[in-house]
Amino acid sequence: MKAKSLFCILFASGAIATMASGGYPFSPAKLTDVAVTGGFWLPRFETNRIVTLKTDFEKCELERIPNFRRAAKREWGTFKGIPFDDSDVYKVIEGAANILAVHPDQELEKYVDGVIAAIAGAQEPDGYLYTARTLGFAYKGKDGKPEFRMMGPTRWSHLAHSHELYNVGHLYEAAVAWYEATGKRNLLDVAIRSADLVDRTFGPGETQLHETSGHEEIELALAKLYRATGEVRYLELAKYLLDRRGKDGNGQSAKVFTQSGDLADGKALGAPGAYCQKHLPVVDQREAVGHAVRATYLYSGMADVAALVGNKEYVKAIDAIWENVVQKKLALNGSVGARRGGEAFGANYELPNETAYLETCAGIGNALWNERMFLLHGDAKYVDVIERVLYNGIVSGVSLSGDEFFYPNPLASQGGYKRSKWFGCSCCPVNVVRFIPQIVQFTYATRGNDAYVNLFVESDATLKLGCGNVRLSQETDYPWNGKVKIGVTPPLDGVRFALHVRIPGWCVGRPVPSDLYTQVEPGTMEDFKVTVNGRAGARPSRDDKGYAVIDREWKAGDTVEIAMNMPVRRIKANDKVEADKGRLAVERGPIVYCAEGADNAGKAFHAFIPAEATFTEGALEIGAERFVSLKSSNGVTLVPYFIWGNRKPGNEMQTWFPGGYGVRPDYHRLPQ
Ligand SMILES: [Zn+2]
Repeated sequence: MKAKSLFCILFASGAIATMASGGYPFSPAKLTDVAVTGGFWLPRFETNRIVTLKTDFEKCELERIPNFRRAAKREWGTFKGIPFDDSDVYKVIEGAANILAVHPDQELEKYVDGVIAAIAGAQEPDGYLYTARTLGFAYKGKDGKPEFRMMGPTRWSHLAHSHELYNVGHLYEAAVAWYEATGKRNLLDVAIRSADLVDRTFGPGETQLHETSGHEEIELALAKLYRATGEVRYLELAKYLLDRRGKDGNGQSAKVFTQSGDLADGKALGAPGAYCQKHLPVVDQREAVGHAVRATYLYSGMADVAALVGNKEYVKAIDAIWENVVQKKLALNGSVGARRGGEAFGANYELPNETAYLETCAGIGNALWNERMFLLHGDAKYVDVIERVLYNGIVSGVSLSGDEFFYPNPLASQGGYKRSKWFGCSCCPVNVVRFIPQIVQFTYATRGNDAYVNLFVESDATLKLGCGNVRLSQETDYPWNGKVKIGVTPPLDGVRFALHVRIPGWCVGRPVPSDLYTQVEPGTMEDFKVTVNGRAGARPSRDDKGYAVIDREWKAGDTVEIAMNMPVRRIKANDKVEADKGRLAVERGPIVYCAEGADNAGKAFHAFIPAEATFTEGALEIGAERFVSLKSSNGVTLVPYFIWGNRKPGNEMQTWFPGGYGVRPDYHRLPQ
């Protein structure tokens, strides 16, 4: 009956007809549609492929992968680490799959097949997969009886903390990526056995469990597994798990981490369950609360299921939550989750700098969620958020060398904070490796005969439009230079389609889609120019979704040129942000700048830049890479925020500079 009812919903919404796009009106480019050929992203992709992937696998070989090997042999009592460590291995496999999809490597594939064999061996006969339990993760409590850390004495008995469903969510994502990259079912079959067990165990039936996961992830993963297999039970299970949130009464975690922000919807944010977004049914939520990674994965899952079943209530909720984030809870580096306590969203306008948490995973979660918001609505404002977090709060999370990582990404430091090789809880390094290759999917999108250029990435792409395959090749030095050249090759000369070129908010006076951050001297539409074959007369119209639309009959060799003015702009925060009062930040294009000790005689935390300062541009070389640096007229050297801590790990850093406005400090730059 369950399946039948959902099929009816799917049929009625026409969702099956749009399965190719995952149910969304807009389709992202596939990993294999776009080859990054140079510019800013090629070194990031190559470092991720060559260094980060290797580093992650090496670290996982020390503790995490051996758990699977020991579980395959049922070596009771030998678990090492934390129960959610299984997910790290799945995330690195997803990263390997995303890399292999465009860069065949037989040796890597063979190695991963071996790891998958260990995972398959660790799976219990009925599909249960959780090495901590299979290996008997317990220790003796004070009275000599075994106590079960995080996971409860029996399966699913402590879902608030066990991560049993979170782990397998990452398994499903990895399995789909591996299947799509290699055509192999080895991990997909493991995922299906697991999902079938979860589907038998959780649901509305009298003998089933009605609880949900303490850490969201399985919801979006089940949507992905449904798309890969066509098995509607998985989609239905995703929707069931979403709809049970706020109703299953399982909010133990909230007693530990409570919110004390203002009350957007009249209900206490400190209500049990806010930490893991169980304080209200998901359709009634209107404010981003609780653990930021959990939250962004939840909102992503809601978007996926909404797109697939045509649920308007989910969309209404995530639209409102998105407005709350961009208006009141988005950090300058585009990341979210201001509070260290609970790794959580703060109250409205609670946006500290030195103590800001802004976990690398939360930045990635914010990008994944905003990508889905774009695919639902087709508005460039979501890509503005993606671009901000991509170039600032996400790439800051990994060193230029690719083997050291930030967990939190604060916006100021008095020194002593540096990237690490690995963490006890190492969610961030393994999120980086699976995320970086996905950036090409954010670069382009399609809908019918419309192609969308969302990010400016030097690349060759082949997009499938209604009229046939269209080739787009971008040449650009973005984000250091605002010039972009796009070569267009239609399927046949004379074929008509529309090219939608995103007009970045930072270029035209809207650095974020709200009044949270504004430019002191805002850019205007005059700062964005586009020509076709060098003719300004072909000036396109600008639609109301933030795109320049060039709708014409194309011929091979047509060239679109975009010129974005990229002056240094001072940024001020909304007056309600206490931490930024009397301060201004510095941006150029999509890049947030900071001062770090390495360039400023070791002292940057107290760096002062007056509101009337002017800036000269310079070049900073690190290894083979070149970055644009800035020098203020009062002598402070600035570098892109994301590279801080690479040359002198643990040095001072500042992003919001006093003396901005309303303050006249009596010092030039303190202490010297
Ligand atoms: Zn993390």
